[in-house]
Amino acid sequence: MNEFYFTYEPSSAPVAFPSSSSFTSSSDEFTDSISQSISSFSGSEAKPSQNISISSSHASNRLSIQHRSTSSSVSEARPSQNTSTAFSYASISEVSLDNDDAEIVIEGIPVGINLGILAERSKIFHDLFKLKELPGKKKYLLNDLIPFGKIGYEAFLVFLSYLYTEKLNPPPLEISTCVDSECAHDACGPAIDFAVDLLYASAIFKVPKLVALFQRRLSSFAYRAYVEDVIPILVAAFHCDSDELENQCIQRIASSNLDNISIQKMLPGDLPKIIEFYRKEPMSDAQQISVAMDSLHEKIIRRIHKALDFDDVELVHLLLLEDLDLTIDDTKALHYAVAYCDRKLVCEVLNCFSFDINLRNSQGFTALHIAAMRKEPSIIMYLLGKGACVSDLTLDGRSAITICKRLTRQKNYQSKIEQCQETTYKDRLCIDILERAMQGNVLS
Ligand SMILES: [Zn+2]
Repeated sequence: MNEFYFTYEPSSAPVAFPSSSSFTSSSDEFTDSISQSISSFSGSEAKPSQNISISSSHASNRLSIQHRSTSSSVSEARPSQNTSTAFSYASISEVSLDNDDAEIVIEGIPVGINLGILAERSKIFHDLFKLKELPGKKKYLLNDLIPFGKIGYEAFLVFLSYLYTEKLNPPPLEISTCVDSECAHDACGPAIDFAVDLLYASAIFKVPKLVALFQRRLSSFAYRAYVEDVIPILVAAFHCDSDELENQCIQRIASSNLDNISIQKMLPGDLPKIIEFYRKEPMSDAQQISVAMDSLHEKIIRRIHKALDFDDVELVHLLLLEDLDLTIDDTKALHYAVAYCDRKLVCEVLNCFSFDINLRNSQGFTALHIAAMRKEPSIIMYLLGKGACVSDLTLDGRSAITICKRLTRQKNYQSKIEQCQETTYKDRLCIDILERAMQGNVLS
């Protein structure tokens, strides 16, 4: 059996607004001591609307943010004088509806905002709100406001709550912890993603205290995380001009065995060259000759990977004929296709070439480990169908299931299938397929 197909039908069900009960954990690191007291707000709870009409006239706003000087100052927020009631997500919605003068849409969900408070506490918001003089209720798409990176719905709500109250809520556990019950959640994928989102939010909207907080948070992650999980931290540090964090991640990756292909494919700007510079060591004459011979093979390998980028399997055949010392396994073409190509091409190369399906790359990853990192269920099924061993461990002792679980948020795994978005559905499906394979009945 060579082919397995999955169909995905996105649900039209609205995403539930998070309740305050989801965020009851405490974290000293996530509680900024600058908050003295917090205002309490009243009003009814906001609910996502079903039909969202978004103006598309934000291009000028986005450009203005992209080119804004980094010296922009941020209005210092002033602690409120009233109550010491703990702030919750419900409070955000209450503020929003009471001050229903604008909306920001995040991941398709509109969130009411208070223009006055946000304009006072972020110069970026201040300038943005002045730009749009259209009549009626103002609507902004968050993706139009951010020149780089991404900010998830839950992370943006935490960011908004900080702007309103000057107090940072602990990270919602269902978003910032993974599915693996063995994980300490101190540097797994969801924990990193959540902190990266908040670094982007605080850097783009210029809230220096939060930038410093999440730089420290990500710095501690960068020491403990698996090296491949350091990549999103380094990308965020690069875009957010977090030089110290960037340098730390560069050193971590340079001293690791992370392969050059991943570095070149996933890191922006000059970061690959900088890492290459740190990795270079003085070589003897014999080593230099060996490297020169290897570089000939590498040229062919790079061209083969390029051919895969263009879905040209026939060219891969021809390039292999140019260097008869090179086998398809030597090129790590399967690892490359699994990491970067679409599922149809992965299926095609699996059928066209005879791979050692459980071959390891320079990091000790099999193609199935790579597919688990990518969380693409159909590719996982193709590999299992070709005999990939689900119990093979990485050099640091992780199985494909462990890899998947440590990259999957609790929320994504626990959501009902009919309420899942595509990525959520895939996350859950990958784990289910691998668990069934472990039990020996995936293909029955
Ligand atoms: Zn975890």
